[in-house]
Amino acid sequence: MRIVFMGPPGAGKGTQAKIICDKYGIPQISTGEILRAAVKNGTEMGKKAKEFMDAGKLVPDSVVIGIVKDRIKEKDAQPGYVLDGFPRTLEQADALKAMLAEIKTPLQIALNLDVRDTLLVERLLDRAKKEGRPDDTEPVIKQRLETYHSQTSPLINYYKKEGILVEVAGEGTLEEVTGRILGALKGIG
Ligand code: ADP
Repeated sequence: MRIVFMGPPGAGKGTQAKIICDKYGIPQISTGEILRAAVKNGTEMGKKAKEFMDAGKLVPDSVVIGIVKDRIKEKDAQPGYVLDGFPRTLEQADALKAMLAEIKTPLQIALNLDVRDTLLVERLLDRAKKEGRPDDTEPVIKQRLETYHSQTSPLINYYKKEGILVEVAGEGTLEEVTGRILGALKGIG
């Protein structure tokens, strides 16, 4: 099962991706988490990524494309994976399509979690209190939403054209959303 999880920051992508991955026994590949780990470990990549992340901007395509290319080759990803937070630009989507075509394992579904902006800001500010992520401050949240609308939301149409888009309402309780996602994934093996 090869899935992409899309949606604005705060839509619940990470939380839902984890639940789905546990259920299907496949890895969750989160570019945000990989980048945060690189920042924490002070690697060269982390140093480069940090200023973009702290500003709510996207890390350069070449960096994240490289991360995903290496990660999907690993053994645990052979039965499938959930890509969480990647792709985020048309260039990333094209690169993903090309790398998967090369190994003859196309994406099966691109799931878009849809949530209103006002609710997103509320959720992210609430998360800021609990987790203290450095990019969960109000100005950076606003910038991340803007980045999402200008650079990432065009991917909804991209995957619609590819014929693999599934839209899921991301509002309601965590369990309700999981239920909708599981319903949408039924029949994909
Ligand atoms: P959120 O969805 O809440 O914004 P993520 O953990 O997915 O959180 O991403 C955090 C930050 O990491 C982003 O704001 C961005 O700077 C960087 N990032 C993550 N994934 C990508 C990607 N695919 N392309 C570019 N930058 C990325």
